[in-house]
Amino acid sequence: MMNLLNGNEVSQTLKHEIKLNVEALKASGKKIPHLAAILVGSDGASMTYVAAKAKDCEEVGFNSTVLRFEASISEAELLEEVVKINNNPEIDGLIVQLPLPKHINEKKVTETISFKKDVDGFHPMNVGMMFKGLKTFLPATPYGVIQLLDHYKIETSGKHCVIIGRSDIVGKPMSALMLQKNCTVTVCHSKTPDVSLFTREADIIIAAVGIPEYLKGDMIKEGAVVIDVGITRIEDASLTKGYKLKGDVHFDSVAPKSSWITPVPGGVGPMTRIALLLNTLQAIS
Ligand code: NAP
Repeated sequence: MMNLLNGNEVSQTLKHEIKLNVEALKASGKKIPHLAAILVGSDGASMTYVAAKAKDCEEVGFNSTVLRFEASISEAELLEEVVKINNNPEIDGLIVQLPLPKHINEKKVTETISFKKDVDGFHPMNVGMMFKGLKTFLPATPYGVIQLLDHYKIETSGKHCVIIGRSDIVGKPMSALMLQKNCTVTVCHSKTPDVSLFTREADIIIAAVGIPEYLKGDMIKEGAVVIDVGITRIEDASLTKGYKLKGDVHFDSVAPKSSWITPVPGGVGPMTRIALLLNTLQAIS
């Protein structure tokens, strides 16, 4: 009964399609998408994420540039760098890896990126366009989830979708996109007294809480579609990398009751990476 929503597989298929697109652009002498990433400081996780994004670009044939700055860069200097990229016609998309050092206002930086190059979809202009259902850059994780649902032709119209989490990068935009897909949407958060009251009624559950194995089997109804956005690093000395990834879903108890479920890793994670590439491809059109 249970089927896997295989993000690894779908992301490979989409990656191949993007690559073919780039080859066609090259063949007709058109511009190749160019993504710039700003990395401030030397946080390990941030460096890994930026390197992965640059590698993804390379694999599909995009150009990419990583601009690295010391953690001591002033806010004014960083904003100047953003404006320089905004004005550089060679660059189509710009992302600033978060978090930024405490002395820099992230909101100011996000809002300084030209909304036409904001491939993370964080600029208020793009957020507004998304909520209105206009074509724009969608935030990577919710966009990736939509791609996954579409790929497996999961019926959304008339379904009750319960989203756990209301962050600006996942829960909130996810609710807008599921509404556009004709779901009846409920958004739960830390002030919801009894989340299971809602999840037990849900046809589709999207967990973006950040608490490992939060959603248990007794919180869902038989046949639910379950999307696990959560990724928490749990220390594990027995592994060479020193940690393993845990989702927000207690897979062993939830999977047997679900009709479709994403694994962690290999579910939403790789789809998020593909979404950035889709946005960057869109940035040249
Ligand atoms: P976040 O900003 O910390 O938001 C968590 C949300 O969960 C908040 O809205 C919070 O409610 C809610 N929450 C916390 N405890 C709760 C509880 N006990 N019951 C119900 N709701 C609760 O996190 P995020 O950035 O959205 O990320 C969520 C998870 O997804 C994290 O594990 C993150 O690492 C992961 N993530 C994965 C990807 C990917 O590529 N796979 C991308 C982004 C994020 P309040 O608003 O009331 O505080």
